[in-house]
Amino acid sequence: MKVSIEKDYYKILGVNKSSKVSDIKKRYRELARKHHPDTNQGSQKSEEQFKQISEAYEVLGNAKKRKEYDQLRTNGRRGRSAHSPGNRNEPYNDPFDFGRQYTRQGPRENRQDPFSQPPFADEPVMDPDMPTRGFDLQFMVDVPFVVAALGGTIPYTYDKHVTCPECKGSGVNDFEDPCTECQGKQRVVKTVTLDIDIPSGVADQYTLKFPRQGGSGRNGGPLGDLMVKVCIEKHPHFKKVKSDVHSVVAISPELAEKGGLLEIQLLDSKTTIHVEDGTLTGEELRIPGAGSTQPWGKKRGDFVVKFRIDENLRKKRAG
Ligand SMILES: [Zn+2]
Repeated sequence: MKVSIEKDYYKILGVNKSSKVSDIKKRYRELARKHHPDTNQGSQKSEEQFKQISEAYEVLGNAKKRKEYDQLRTNGRRGRSAHSPGNRNEPYNDPFDFGRQYTRQGPRENRQDPFSQPPFADEPVMDPDMPTRGFDLQFMVDVPFVVAALGGTIPYTYDKHVTCPECKGSGVNDFEDPCTECQGKQRVVKTVTLDIDIPSGVADQYTLKFPRQGGSGRNGGPLGDLMVKVCIEKHPHFKKVKSDVHSVVAISPELAEKGGLLEIQLLDSKTTIHVEDGTLTGEELRIPGAGSTQPWGKKRGDFVVKFRIDENLRKKRAG
């Protein structure tokens, strides 16, 4: 068929340039029902309108043709065919070949266009063209201890529905047959990686919600959400008590007896502390503000050093 850029197909269908394919289909069906020749006793006017509507839908209902049409209209290259001459007599592209379509019996598997049903029959209860929301997804994610305490991002890889890249979510190819990539389902399963933000001080088993990071919908329906349950990994040396972080630090008997300086590992840095002389196992040293961030806050708890005198660290006498 020849695309006429003289005609405003959007105006003919009463839609606008930003209308979704699903809305265009819906509008087309309403108009086609109204102006169908069979229901208008062969009225010349209705027949002409019906042809116009069908021609408009033939273009706007197809993502590729619509794009070409939009480009031609924008560029103002009048009278140029959007299709190669070889396609002009292609029967599947002929918008006026209604006889073929109306006499088709039985549903065509997976077909998404309005003609999958006998023309203008009662709507099925579940409208296959109705926009539906994508799936909400729920996962558990292991979060390193320090990331949970101080916040950060971790890459998370998961599978979800995405809009079919081949048919751009229309479910059909240029010939209005089911898209081979998605089998007309408009979407395909794809593995994606999302950098998820872990808020500082997040509690174990807390569920984070990431709106619109779930599966793609159908017929222009909205994306689902992603829900991630935080599972904080155990740390070999640190333990969280509310916003404080406790750490058991082994010291030699000599250091415990005489006192002195000792470098220790904090959450994200090292620091040097002073061990008092006469320190006993179980005694604590508190470093204010070096613990975990308080949930949803900026203040940090304390880092609590618990000393343990380790006989294995006793210095062996030389000789
Ligand atoms: Zn597809």
